[in-house]
Amino acid sequence: MKVFELNKKWVKISTVCVLFGVMVLAGCVEPVRYPEIVGELPSIVFPAQYRIVGASVQNRPIMCLILGDGSNVSLIMSTIHGNEAAGTPLVRRLASYLRERPEMLVGRKVVLMAVANPDGMVYGTRYNAKGVDLNRNFEAANRVNSKETGLTSLSEPEARAIRQVIVQYKPDRIVSIHQPLNCIDYDGPAQMLADRMGQYCALPVKKVGAMPGSLGSYAGVTLGIPIVTFEMTQADSKLDSATLWQKYGRALLAAIVYPDMVR
Ligand SMILES: [Zn+2]
Repeated sequence: MKVFELNKKWVKISTVCVLFGVMVLAGCVEPVRYPEIVGELPSIVFPAQYRIVGASVQNRPIMCLILGDGSNVSLIMSTIHGNEAAGTPLVRRLASYLRERPEMLVGRKVVLMAVANPDGMVYGTRYNAKGVDLNRNFEAANRVNSKETGLTSLSEPEARAIRQVIVQYKPDRIVSIHQPLNCIDYDGPAQMLADRMGQYCALPVKKVGAMPGSLGSYAGVTLGIPIVTFEMTQADSKLDSATLWQKYGRALLAAIVYPDMVR
């Protein structure tokens, strides 16, 4: 009896297989086609690594994406002022762009910090969750201690995380994206870098002046690293990332490939 049932089962399976085969031959069922490999496989493979580089006052992670492993290093960061957040989607778009074009990363390393002040971004405020302006919390000759700038330099964990990234990766240049001053400001030996970025977007190069204890004063003047404060407009907050990329993407690429030109 059991053998008979088994035979019946096999007859059913065989019938289904034969019917399927007939359908394929008749063109009713498209056989699975695997894509052909056309041309050469990409020859450039570059490392991409997410790192948690610190935590905010309210314990939100501060993340960096590190692309490439070359010796020419750019740090591109945004939203150190939480209510100037249009740089965040722009930096994320930059990450996608670079991942699709690994040839741009040959000999280079790009460190991307899309949100430097995660608590401020959540609350839509300039300050961190303790009410300190992180862009006044750095060590610099012009530093002023106060409740708003921090009672000591690097009193805030977000500022310490940024400093640690600079110490570890030793960037050749830094771009910090802000709003709404509508200009390309710079500190330290960065005038040529600022001019170059200005060739690729509508923002005018303008020296705003060193702010006490700012990242610009610390990185540009204290450490001598070229640093651009990339001040987009207030209206940029209303734009989607594709439009932001159209307006500013090539200026950021110009910083990364500097002193080469963007092709
Ligand atoms: Zn700002």
